[in-house]
Amino acid sequence: MKQNLHTHSIFCDGKDTIEEMTLEAISKGFDILGFSGHGYLSIDDGSMRDIKGYISEVQRIKSKYSSSIQIHLGIEEDMLGRISEKAPFEYVIGSKHFLGETAVDYSKPVFDSLFESYSGDYKKMCKDYYSDLSNMYDWQEVDIIGHLDLITKYNEDESYFQFNDKDYMNIVCDCIDRLLINDKIFEVNTGAIARGYRKTPYPSKNILEYLYAKNARICLNSDCHDKNYLDCAFESSLDLIQSCGFKELQILTKDGFVSEKIK
Ligand SMILES: [Zn+2]
Ligand SMILES: [Zn+2]
Repeated sequence: MKQNLHTHSIFCDGKDTIEEMTLEAISKGFDILGFSGHGYLSIDDGSMRDIKGYISEVQRIKSKYSSSIQIHLGIEEDMLGRISEKAPFEYVIGSKHFLGETAVDYSKPVFDSLFESYSGDYKKMCKDYYSDLSNMYDWQEVDIIGHLDLITKYNEDESYFQFNDKDYMNIVCDCIDRLLINDKIFEVNTGAIARGYRKTPYPSKNILEYLYAKNARICLNSDCHDKNYLDCAFESSLDLIQSCGFKELQILTKDGFVSEKIK
């Protein structure tokens, strides 16, 4: 099964309509496509202003193309904008984009000023980020934890800290352990590859190895804002996932998430 559950359309900060994304997914051979528009946040211009319109358009496209592709209605919920109830969404991606009111993935200059506000103390910054993210463990509506280590978006060259730094990894592992209390699914997210910031997906390989050791469930998503990148770096990411030991991915069906063997 070829699946992508993390996509954005013109209802938030994506480039294409729901229908354009769907037609491209069908032509790329996808079996399952999920839409996960950014839930409304007053401080984020890229979040959805017309959630009702989004819901009805996804439902229209879902029935129009039901014989060609399985469409799911989802939402990407930021920690600053928790939704009041899950319905009518079939799944929820829970993500942390902000430290205070600063988006950690906005731009390198913005990240630099955030880093400076911590006087370059990456341990303190990461601790603030991951300890708050770990609070999502008991957010019942959240199925998938989005881009776990988004805070490393601009760290491809490890100029802020080393990915295998012991103290950093302890902070990340504590966060994962807490999220696993309720068996949250972790996504392998290729979004930063499409945008040219990273060569490998979130989360980094050593985190993926830890997730495997902890028997965590994972899925593969492209966090796509442009239909041309619907399956960006899926092949190489599948190789990486398997090299960490994983043999299964989570697939969303009408009856919820199920494990499927990686071919
Ligand atoms: Zn996100
Ligand atoms: Zn996203």
